[in-house]
Amino acid sequence: MNTLSRRQALKSAGLLSAGFFLSTSLTRALAQTAAVAGPHKLPALPYSFSALEPHFDAKTMEIHHGKHHAAYVNNLNKALADYPDLQKLSPEELCKGLDKVPEKIRTAVRNNGGGHYNHSLFWQCLRKEGGNGPEGPLGEALGELFTDKEEGEKMFAEKALGVFGSGWIWISVTQDKKLMLETTPNQENPLMSGRQPLIGLDLWEHAYYLKYQNRRIDYVKAFVNLVNWEFAAERFEKITA
Ligand code: MN
Repeated sequence: MNTLSRRQALKSAGLLSAGFFLSTSLTRALAQTAAVAGPHKLPALPYSFSALEPHFDAKTMEIHHGKHHAAYVNNLNKALADYPDLQKLSPEELCKGLDKVPEKIRTAVRNNGGGHYNHSLFWQCLRKEGGNGPEGPLGEALGELFTDKEEGEKMFAEKALGVFGSGWIWISVTQDKKLMLETTPNQENPLMSGRQPLIGLDLWEHAYYLKYQNRRIDYVKAFVNLVNWEFAAERFEKITA
């Protein structure tokens, strides 16, 4: 091959890869951390990275899902590598049964099993043009927890701001099927205390720093516009059935 044709070949290869780069699925794949073998998989986002703009920006969604959530999945698979029996359990079962997880890997499972479960639920709690509702049984139960939507949003924001460092805020369902507003540190969640999380908001800086920097309050207010109340209402009916 002479120099010119080699150069042309390299040029076409370059154009070819640029074309591939534009393909959404490949860009998405490249944005993800390589998966570690094991039973747990990173679930696909139920919408595009940019679907929640302008409230949650596409870059944050891409990194949050493809890097942070992927890392929890990978680290959970690594922690369970020598425990075939535990590999059969779902993230929910792992979170509920931490006391049965050997002490050697319990912290890793709490952090990464919690991280995997929490993020998987979080993505489903969000939707484009959310925030309307809920009606029905969940609407009634929320009415018992907060006097109205305005007071509910105010209490939610105050409690979210009160979390020092990294954690989550939840509306969860207690064992007697009442709603509860609660927060957890790190990647812990209500399952670890015998309750069912209904909706959750990630309060780690990685969830909002690119767009909102230190303004957690603006991020919490943005979340109010994205809550998938239809999902929450269906989930509430399943949990309380
Ligand atoms: Mn997160």
